[in-house]
Amino acid sequence: MSNEGNRERLIGTVSFHLSAQNAPCPICGRHSRHFASEYPSNEALFRALVVLWCEQCGSGWVPDAGRMTADYYATDYLAITPQRKAPPAEVFAEQSLAKDKRFARAMAQKRAIERHGAAFDTVYDFGFGLGFFLFATAAPKKFGFDIDPQTLRFAEFLSIKTAAPWEMPVASIDCLLSSHSMEHIAAEHLDRHISAFYAMLKPRGLFAVEVPHAALSWLEKPGIHRPHTIFFSAEGLQCSLVRHGFTILERGFAEDGPAAGLSKCAIYAPRSTDAFYSSRNSSALFIICMK
Ligand SMILES: [Zn+2]
Repeated sequence: MSNEGNRERLIGTVSFHLSAQNAPCPICGRHSRHFASEYPSNEALFRALVVLWCEQCGSGWVPDAGRMTADYYATDYLAITPQRKAPPAEVFAEQSLAKDKRFARAMAQKRAIERHGAAFDTVYDFGFGLGFFLFATAAPKKFGFDIDPQTLRFAEFLSIKTAAPWEMPVASIDCLLSSHSMEHIAAEHLDRHISAFYAMLKPRGLFAVEVPHAALSWLEKPGIHRPHTIFFSAEGLQCSLVRHGFTILERGFAEDGPAAGLSKCAIYAPRSTDAFYSSRNSSALFIICMK
């Protein structure tokens, strides 16, 4: 690991000051006091950003992030995703797949969705990356979107038709995944994305979402948060789905991660009666919901 990576891991605590009274939260949709903090990164580009936090759901977001990320993925992002330069045939060779953790995660996600009776005829992956999930489902009709242009070679290799969520026909998809992607959406565009996810699913179609558990409003979670533009709490993620019409079928964490510490300057308190909201599991949040 680079020195920069070591320094980055030290950041776990953010401090807050009151920023706005009674404004709508782009994640949970409720009116709330907003608190501002520094961005939890040592990298200058990010350190200069402000993060706003919702007192109601504990989630955070970078305001006006669309401008910040406009060029980022075409330039800087490539430097931290070198594995995407590999030839697709090499990545999908049997011996490579057998030891690839990302493929193992895609298989685990597929099995989890399968337990709810998913059909895998027409599948969409938002942020498909190298296409592991679409490959794992063996869907005859594969669709997806990824902001990183490097992924287009993998789309071609796996016959993935690329389309933005709002370009998909209404009620055309059996099953939709968004794994470690929604935290990269500019918060001002989150509603548009979740509405489009809902619209493209067939009735009773399934949506599985996995995002980092980033409720730094009450947890200390050292690690690399850049270039995330949304910091989901469990409550915020659930609210964002429910208020767009989804029915929650399963909620939990990708793994049994170590417990995150409590922030000494918390501005949010999860309802202790809800074990999902109040869990300090530092692994990723995982929800399966239904249209
Ligand atoms: Zn909120």
